[in-house]
Amino acid sequence: MNILSLQRSTVRELKPYDPELLAAYKYKVDANENGYDIPVAIRKKILKEIAKIKFNRYPDPGSVKLRSILADKNRIDPGCIVIGNGSDELIHYLLQAFTDKNDKIVAPDPSFDMYRILALANGAKPVIVPLDDNFDLDETAVIRAAKGAKFIFLAYPNNPTGNCFSDDKMLRVIRSAGCFVVIDEAYFEFSGKTYLNLLATQKNLIILRTFSKAYSLASMRVGYMMAAPEIISVINKVRLPYNMNAVSQVCAELTAQTDIAPVVKKILYEREKLYSSLYKEYLVVKSDANFLMIKVCDGKQAKKLFEKKGISIRMFKDGRLKDFLRLTIGTPEENRAALEILKRGV
Ligand code: PMP
Repeated sequence: MNILSLQRSTVRELKPYDPELLAAYKYKVDANENGYDIPVAIRKKILKEIAKIKFNRYPDPGSVKLRSILADKNRIDPGCIVIGNGSDELIHYLLQAFTDKNDKIVAPDPSFDMYRILALANGAKPVIVPLDDNFDLDETAVIRAAKGAKFIFLAYPNNPTGNCFSDDKMLRVIRSAGCFVVIDEAYFEFSGKTYLNLLATQKNLIILRTFSKAYSLASMRVGYMMAAPEIISVINKVRLPYNMNAVSQVCAELTAQTDIAPVVKKILYEREKLYSSLYKEYLVVKSDANFLMIKVCDGKQAKKLFEKKGISIRMFKDGRLKDFLRLTIGTPEENRAALEILKRGV
């Protein structure tokens, strides 16, 4: 028996996720994480709370406390929130709950690849619409492609380009698409721009957020979805029982209440400093997030130079993004190390 022939046909073309991590790195600026870990005082509080966990019992299945904290923060009803093991899990649940075999989903290119990958993994058909020359949305093409589709996925700010799409284009898509529009606001805390205010009136709108970026909690895998309660209740039908472990719940409850503004400010300051030092020599996309997309001359050579200095970066190899380097804004020391190489000319 050929075991591989038993795969779902759309899974056949997929490859396992490979973060392409440098085995031993000194600086890690490849995954848009936060270069600053959570404050020591919060870490202490977390450890105290973890000591109280009943390790022999299942965690709160509905993450009630965390949802209530997030509801207060975002001024919405807790019934409009569901928590996921990273926002990745929530994208998976959306596709699992709402797409039938061969249903279309629309996503731009370049964008976050998990929309396409999880669509294929769930038997849906990704329809990819190229962004325009400025990496802005081609909203007419998106709306056209979305005829008969179940979802449009839009990362806002977009990853890997870092920009927020134009507001008028976003509004046109949200208002005229006859399907769900998922706005993935993973980098919201850096952009300060959100469509959350439209949630009450636009029933097709779904907002995703994460603790992995501005909240420095990538290791704990916590993301959340905000949407109409009817959508949340469908997601709860496919959500695995106890999807959020007790440690992650405690970590998110306590970090959600920290003031991240000073760290966000430092990162934005560093981003602008890097941008100003680079834009005359390189094509650099104006960013609303905690990373910069930079076009280098020879991607392969540049990656080698970075790795020689122990700097793990994300380099794109093919298609439209060939020779584009995505650089996470890290600590000043990390940024200086990256800038030093770029200033040499790569
Ligand atoms: N959406 C976007 C746009 C992202 O860039 C990422 C992480 N790279 C995610 C979602 C996934 O984040 P999480 O860690 O919450 O799964």
